[in-house]
Amino acid sequence: EEHRKAEIMERVKEKGVRFIRLQFTDVLGILKNVAIPVSQLEKALDGELMFDGSSIAGFVGIEESDMYLVPDPDTFVVFPWRPAVGAVARLICDVYTKDRKPFVGCPRYNLKRVLKEAEMMGYTMYVGPEVEFFLFLLDDQGRPTVRTHDEATYFDLAPTDRGEDARRDMVMTLEDMGFEVEASHHEVAPGQHEIDFKYDDALKIADAIMTFKLVVHSIAQRHGLHASFMPKPIYGRNGSGMHTHQSLARNGQNVFFDPARPDGLSDTARYYIGGILKHARAFSAVTNPTVNSYKRLVPGFEAPVYMAWSETNRSCLIRVPAKRGSSTRIEVRNPDPACNPYLALAVMLKAGLDGVMNRISPPEPVNQNIYHMSEEERASLGVESLPANLAEALEELKMNQVIRDAMGEHIYEQFMRVKLDEWNRYQRFVHPWELDEYLALF
Ligand code: GLU
Ligand code: MG
Ligand code: MG
Repeated sequence: EEHRKAEIMERVKEKGVRFIRLQFTDVLGILKNVAIPVSQLEKALDGELMFDGSSIAGFVGIEESDMYLVPDPDTFVVFPWRPAVGAVARLICDVYTKDRKPFVGCPRYNLKRVLKEAEMMGYTMYVGPEVEFFLFLLDDQGRPTVRTHDEATYFDLAPTDRGEDARRDMVMTLEDMGFEVEASHHEVAPGQHEIDFKYDDALKIADAIMTFKLVVHSIAQRHGLHASFMPKPIYGRNGSGMHTHQSLARNGQNVFFDPARPDGLSDTARYYIGGILKHARAFSAVTNPTVNSYKRLVPGFEAPVYMAWSETNRSCLIRVPAKRGSSTRIEVRNPDPACNPYLALAVMLKAGLDGVMNRISPPEPVNQNIYHMSEEERASLGVESLPANLAEALEELKMNQVIRDAMGEHIYEQFMRVKLDEWNRYQRFVHPWELDEYLALF
């Protein structure tokens, strides 16, 4: 600990760091930060820095506003896009209460709690996310539009346009910050991109997703563009997903792999799939947390609608990629990048573990395109749909104790309150679609 501290102080000196941003994530998945001058760093590393938690979404009431930020020294990194003179670094923090206990409303602490439960069962969760996003042009006033900079599509090699330059800059910045970027490409929709980085344990990946979004936003801005992780910004075009590859390991061995099985999948993998399928309608409220999220989950845009699993088929909720051995994993396809990654990983892990613990067998895999099946065909295969909207998902969440436990009661309550309010505001609003549809007609 003392050693880590000295190491950070050393790097701060060497890089000429003047400011440190202490970061944490609120219940809605929004990155928060407090900047401190380097003179306050020792105090911060000792966990002596207080802040007012009462104005943070989903934290606490005014009567309990004094909280501590306790930095995780492993997360120290210098922002490559900030000036080299008077450099800026960051530390990701856990939030503690004024009596120095981990705060139950801190999503990062909550994920650690659920990871500990997995650890007690002997498991480590590994995660590889595929985060998609759009790059949009700004208007004369500098506000984001939904106009894109290109008309390119999947894997296209556009002539060097602004989007491609921005994406290359993002990849280089991520690499400077220690990310191992595996691929980056243009996605299906014009202006849509994806950058994939190497899988890691769940906590590192949740932190990495938050850092990733910050980098993508910041670099886009420098290129005069707006990066958006909104799930479905444009009607009739593909939305942005955050497919989440996941596996469990025990003593460093992938336990989803079983070479003795014709399909190479262990019982543990099957039960994990069973658990995900059982709880997906409830955990969608967390992995797809906005009104807009459900406009992505419609047929025809490579996003899942139906709850089945498959080894090939991209219309399913769960796909099992072909790789076996230590790369054996499942890909859960419904999450979108508007989710809070700490909560999303906690609820998916808990769903999978519930399957493992209770030996929940999944139905047979479905290898035909489910988008093309009739309702009767789907019913005969026992294929249900994901929730049609946020209200339906929240209703499922309310009734699902396993997923509520994965959030912890405090976060659940706060999340529910904010999300019901979001739904109600949307529901009461009169939208342009309604005017187009009805105003002249009636
Ligand atoms: N954009 C699609 C989605 O909404 C995914 C495309 C892909 O398969 O990468 O999930
Ligand atoms: Mg993709
Ligand atoms: Mg994918």
